[in-house]
Amino acid sequence: MSGENQNRQPEGSGRNVRRKSPPAEPLRFETRLLHFGGEIDEATGASSVPIYQASTFHHEDVFNPPAHDYSRSGNPTRQALEDYIAKLEGGARGFAYASGMAAIASTFMLLSSGDHIIVTEDVYGGTYRLLTSILNRMGIECTFVDMTDPEQVKAALKPNTKAVYMETPSNPTLKITDIGAVTGWAREHGLLTLLDNTFMTPYYQRPIEQGVDIVLHSATKFLGGHSDVLAGLAVARTEELGAKLKQLQNGLGTVLGVQDSWLLMRGMKTLGARMSHSEQSAAKLAAWLTGRSDIEAVYYPGLLHHPGREIHERQCRGYGAVVSFDVGSGERAKEVLNSVRLPLVAVSLGAVESILSYPAMMSHAAMGEKVRHERGITDGLLRFSVGLEDIDDLIADLDQALGGKK
Ligand SMILES: *Cc1c(COP(=O)(O)O)cnc(C)c1O
Repeated sequence: MSGENQNRQPEGSGRNVRRKSPPAEPLRFETRLLHFGGEIDEATGASSVPIYQASTFHHEDVFNPPAHDYSRSGNPTRQALEDYIAKLEGGARGFAYASGMAAIASTFMLLSSGDHIIVTEDVYGGTYRLLTSILNRMGIECTFVDMTDPEQVKAALKPNTKAVYMETPSNPTLKITDIGAVTGWAREHGLLTLLDNTFMTPYYQRPIEQGVDIVLHSATKFLGGHSDVLAGLAVARTEELGAKLKQLQNGLGTVLGVQDSWLLMRGMKTLGARMSHSEQSAAKLAAWLTGRSDIEAVYYPGLLHHPGREIHERQCRGYGAVVSFDVGSGERAKEVLNSVRLPLVAVSLGAVESILSYPAMMSHAAMGEKVRHERGITDGLLRFSVGLEDIDDLIADLDQALGGKK
């Protein structure tokens, strides 16, 4: 029970005990991941953002309300996360949601009945389902185009087009969209541009710097990084768009809870270390798969033959940790899935442990077979999200699952 500070009174009013002066800007990205402004609690000096497990806030003086009045509208823990992602993406304001789909769905609510959106054809399966089975009923229509070709984007323009939705590299075949070409053209036509940055994260790709208006994330993946939290994030380029997203987030109530906000921030601090390690391993895996005669195709933006690699290198500073490959048939894909011993066989990606998924039966199951095959999501396609295991162990395991050296 003894301790030097037993009887010490908290200094001052308990406010602003943070004694360090803010570091000189600009800091490099890796440093900003740790020194994002919320890393030390202002009231106590605690080494992480406190979890304000409260739904509402006392009004000491009704004429002078507290900064936050109700946690759906704002909570200091969630706010710290929202400021954190805004800073990392280089946007004006950030928002945290209950899932990636909650972030995407809430953002689509910027549109109204009668509006039209141009969408990349191999968009995330859940976004495809939202557009084709929910938003269509609300009178919001969309045209899917192959966004590797900017001419197809331009050709899809209609008088009621309001927005363009990008995902690059796309899921699961890692197709590349020229972000600057799309945002430049969209601006001329007064269109809103949205980009799902889940695969690259701001560590590799910062779309706002290339003219994108709203960046979206399934933070469930690389940002969280540990397969233990479901979350979504959005970042608005301008204050004006931020105010609109704020109204939607509060009005729809799609917010992220405080425990998950804290857990996500904990995960995000190691984003750089995780991403760079996994990327090195992913490059090795992609090269190894390319060297095998029994693999039909390998998709990884870092491979020399990968379509759009030069565009990707211009707009992004890395290749990420996802490698997709075609083992030739659905039967063989299922054999591999049932024979691997190290990766988690699951829906999802972007975690400390490797995750092997089967798009045809998992992430893209909602897509009709014909559309799926047209988009290169064949029955033999597997998606490997490389984690932090030793890559030689992962390769040896995949080698045995594929039935030995070929
Ligand atoms: C997982 C994912 C989503 C959806 O996110 P949830 O957190 O699962 O709701 C959206 N986009 C991409 C690219 C994803 O991988």
